[in-house]
Amino acid sequence: MSLSALHFKLVLLVCTAAAAAAQTKRGCEDTCGNVSIPYPFGTSKNCYMNERFFVNCTTTTTSSGQATTSLIYGINLPVLDISIDPPELTFSDNVSNHCYNSKNGFPWHVIWFRNFSISNTKNSFTVVGCDTYAYFQDLNSSFTTGCMLSCTRRTRFEEGACSGVGCCQTNFPQAIKNYNITLMSFSNYTDVHNFNPCGYAFVAKEGSFNFSKRDLLDLGNRRQFPVVVDWAVANQTCHEAQKDQSSYACKQNSTCKSSESGMGYYCVCKEGFTGNPYLSHPDPGCKDTNECDDGKHRCSRRCHNAEGSYTCSCPPGYRGDGYIDGSGCKFPFMEISLGISVALLFVFTFVSTLCWGHKQRSLKQLRRKYFEQNGGNYLLQQIYQQQGHTDRAKIFSEDELKTATNNFDESRILGRGGQGTVYKGILPDNTLVAIKKSRIGGDPRQIKDFINEVAVLSQINHRSVVKLFGCCLETEVPLLVYEYVDNGTLLEHIDPLKNEHPLSWETRLRIAVETAEAISYLHSAASIPIIHRDIKSANILLDHNHRAKVSDFGASRLIPLDETQVTTVVQGTLGYLDPEYLFTGQLNEKSDVYSFGVVLVELVTGNKAVDFNKPEQRNLAMHFASSLKEDNLWEILDKRVLDQKNEEQLKEVAFLARKCIRVNGEERPTMKEVSMELEGLISMEKHPWGKQDDMMSEECEYLLGHVADGYGNANASTSTVYDSIQRKIAFEIEDGR
Ligand code: ATP
Ligand code: MG
Repeated sequence: MSLSALHFKLVLLVCTAAAAAAQTKRGCEDTCGNVSIPYPFGTSKNCYMNERFFVNCTTTTTSSGQATTSLIYGINLPVLDISIDPPELTFSDNVSNHCYNSKNGFPWHVIWFRNFSISNTKNSFTVVGCDTYAYFQDLNSSFTTGCMLSCTRRTRFEEGACSGVGCCQTNFPQAIKNYNITLMSFSNYTDVHNFNPCGYAFVAKEGSFNFSKRDLLDLGNRRQFPVVVDWAVANQTCHEAQKDQSSYACKQNSTCKSSESGMGYYCVCKEGFTGNPYLSHPDPGCKDTNECDDGKHRCSRRCHNAEGSYTCSCPPGYRGDGYIDGSGCKFPFMEISLGISVALLFVFTFVSTLCWGHKQRSLKQLRRKYFEQNGGNYLLQQIYQQQGHTDRAKIFSEDELKTATNNFDESRILGRGGQGTVYKGILPDNTLVAIKKSRIGGDPRQIKDFINEVAVLSQINHRSVVKLFGCCLETEVPLLVYEYVDNGTLLEHIDPLKNEHPLSWETRLRIAVETAEAISYLHSAASIPIIHRDIKSANILLDHNHRAKVSDFGASRLIPLDETQVTTVVQGTLGYLDPEYLFTGQLNEKSDVYSFGVVLVELVTGNKAVDFNKPEQRNLAMHFASSLKEDNLWEILDKRVLDQKNEEQLKEVAFLARKCIRVNGEERPTMKEVSMELEGLISMEKHPWGKQDDMMSEECEYLLGHVADGYGNANASTSTVYDSIQRKIAFEIEDGR
């Protein structure tokens, strides 16, 4: 700190002290010795309010030449202190004493206050001695109180307490203006003078005297104690005084209070003000207290002084009333963090919504693109043309199929094939479906074919053909939605490794019939001939009753009615593929006949079309044909189902299969013929006339002749029945029966 700043501070301190001490009128003595003299007291005229407040400041010189200054009130009361709030005047008074062998008789001690009264709350009358009694007497009302003490050397005295042993204290009522203390002895200290030669009596301020046993010996002849006196401005009540403003003593910013002693009133500065309430401008009266500077405020952050009071406030950004006893000032962390969070959340939501909207738009565009790319518009056109058909292909949305397959969950996969993955799905109406991701390229010709297939296949309603419900073209890879068939594929049921319980021969025969019927229907009964192109046991699904359902038209081609052959890229499955089609690329219905023949071979032999584990019969069809050629049929028939009852049927089917797998397509029967021959075998089983030994050959001939004659030209059905019976006889002859 610089020197000038220090100097300034010192000056300020002195000025402040002077202002604080200046409780008197301007130009008046404000102290006498070390006692300050606040107005209404004063030592000279115009300095005190009226005569009752006159105090005399005297200086006396002792014999040793030392000057002492003392302030005297009344006749001769040395003033120790004058206070205006509370209105008190403290003077010092001598102790009255009476001693052993005293020649002066018992002392009297009289005090006159004239206008003021002794404070009954702050003083008490005290007597010390062991052969003593003393009175305190109000000279105005002739009221007397006092106490007496008698003790011996052996008496137990209590140090520090005026308990009635060697020391007693008594109170007196208020409003006593003059009193007299009388001190006496019972036996003139004759018995006690060794340890208590004198008795003492005095009025003293509470707490100024602390009894000790030593006091009995000598309290001190010259000992003085402070006595507190209550003073009042006038002998009026506040109410009376306020009526006459000219004599009313309480000045600006002060209030009136009734005196403690019950006599008169006094003044105090109002709250928020300090100074002398009896003075007013230009004298230093009640001035505003700057609570903010003197540290008396109760503000937690900011204090603002006001006339008679102060207010608190909080810095910007803070919350609260600013008062320590109130809500104080708090930084609104919660609100701010909440606000920031809400703002961030808002921004996040806004950005997310934008992104989501953008994503949705892109997704929509992508779906639209795929839909167009996958021939969606063409399919819609096709569907439109099919108005009136109840079984029109349905176009599924991607979301629908996602919901149906639990977002194409792994657990929903039914199997994977050469053309994609098949998922199990559940539509909202609880229909079970198989959803297949098919694969087609972007070639427009291919797309057109694919859409044609979807449109046509969806109309096929045959109990042995897996129904195509519709498709979804919004995905990159089109999705086909099929009827769900719950008992796996025929391949799984034939393969001894996959199925411990082989299908019975009856079931196999029925499956063969149902499959043949379905393929035959596709070839001839549908509005446009359809070649399946991938007939195999893996594409023949079985339901819980082992009813066959031909599936997977992913590779099928529609043949315009005026064409019988279509040149295509060779497609099919190894082991089932028509060799003629393989070499020429010419696709016709007979290709399906070949493939079905292989399935028949699988049914009678219980072997798979291609089995790399069996080198000698890797290609089942070839092995079968050569076995038949070498008359080894028995060796390759499935022993698990072969028995005496069905050996004929097995042979029949084997023979039919051989016809189906002929290399030259033209030599193969049509699917219709195959289907009828198989049906014939089943009806033969139901009406086993062919097995009756006693059956007349004439009857046979008649029946055959009748059939031929009756219908003119023998149709496919009759000719196959005829064929089968002929073969049966041929086999029996061969077997030597
Ligand atoms: P390819 O692709 O050469 O036809 P694949 O027939 O073995 O071979 P997918 O047709 O893709 O293959 O079929 C895979 C599997 O999905 C099948 O083996 C079958 O178990 C199951 N599956 C196919 N379609 C259905 C359906 N409609 N109902 C129940 N399961 C089916
Ligand atoms: Mg398949």
